[in-house]
This record gives sequence, structure tokens and C-alpha cells, in this order.
Amino acid sequence: MKVLLVEDNVRLAEYVSIGLGKAGFALDAVTNAEDGDLALSTTSYDAVILDLGLPDRDGMTFLTDMRKRGETAFVLILTARDTVEDRVSGLTGGADDYLIKPFAMPELVARLRALERRQSHSMELMLSRGNVQFDPNAREARVQGKAVTLSRRETDALEFLMKRADRVVPRSILEDAIYPMGEELASNALDVLIHRLRKHLQEAQADISIVTMRGVGYMLSYKEA
Ligand code: CA
Repeated sequence: MKVLLVEDNVRLAEYVSIGLGKAGFALDAVTNAEDGDLALSTTSYDAVILDLGLPDRDGMTFLTDMRKRGETAFVLILTARDTVEDRVSGLTGGADDYLIKPFAMPELVARLRALERRQSHSMELMLSRGNVQFDPNAREARVQGKAVTLSRRETDALEFLMKRADRVVPRSILEDAIYPMGEELASNALDVLIHRLRKHLQEAQADISIVTMRGVGYMLSYKEA
């Protein structure tokens, strides 16, 4: 199990690193939200241990943003905020579990093991449309069985549209799903992204197309011959 720790308390991070290392987890540790985003964009993690009090961004915002991007890694919140409201907002905000500081290492290890067991039961179903398959677990698209190389955002857009095939997806909903909240967005950013995605699909001879519904949004469907 590959785990990302986002925690600015260096001593605590060290304690967690050593403990989880001994328990056999592969751990990367970062000390702020920005480095956390970077790590998640370049590496695939099974779980994220997230401190809510980060220096550059609130941990809850970090969590919401990562779920919006379609990040499916388990999230275990680590915090001193032990009120019921915080716990509830953490769990409704997309966290899978909650651990209050101070905690004992065996408890953290036990929680991660429990998430690991859940992971093996929660593999998402393969998406399929025409000759295109999308594996939400590997985040990989295949056309006629051949892998297609897509950027992370192209991948996000394809997954989102495939899950809603034959339905019109409003622009704003697709934008929210692909781009982090608060990101400065050129007005044509989504059109450019969809244009590139179409090109990749065309080059791979996919028999699905993404149709622009003027003034409304996009719809992915089987291409009529
Ligand atoms: Ca902190």
C-alpha cells in the first residue's frame, strides 16, 4: 500500500514515517498542501494521511479539491480538532476515516490495514462505450485494447463523460469536475482540452465522439457511421 502523508509537524511526520515503514507501508511525506497536490498529480497513492491544519491551505479544502479531481485514494484525516462537527464535516467532505491527535502508532497502522481491506472490495467497474474502455482503477483508456496516452485532465474529462454517456453534461459541471476550485481558467480552457481529447480518440480510431451542444455542454456517444 502506497501512502502519502501531508503533515507540517516535522516531528510527527518523522514518527509516522518510522512507524509505517516498520509496518511495511511505502510512505512519501510532504509538509504542505501545494506539495501534496504535486505528489498526487505525479504518483498514484492508495491512501492519504491528511493533517487538517496545514500552513498554506485548510486540509478540508485540500480534501474537497482532490475529490473534485476524481482522486480516489483513501483519506484518513489526522487532527487535533476532536469536535463532533469536525468529524462529520470531514467524513461528508470525502474522508474515509478519522484519527485524533495524539494517537498511538498501532492504531494508525490498524486503521490503514482496515482501509486496505476495504480497497480490495471497492474496485470500480470498467467503463465501456463502443470500442473504448476506461479502467477507473488504473485510470487508463484503451481503444480496441490498445492503451491511449492522455494527460491527467484529459483522462478526468473522458472518465466523467463516459460515466454519463448519451447524456448532456453542462460545461460548468464538467469544469468543476476537472479543474481545482479557484483555479484561474481561460474561458476556452475546456474547449481546448476537449479538442485535444477528441484528437487523441480520433487518432486511436475510437468509434465514440464528444459532441458539442452549443451553449449547453458536451455529450459523449457512439459515433453513427
Ligand atoms: Ca498541522
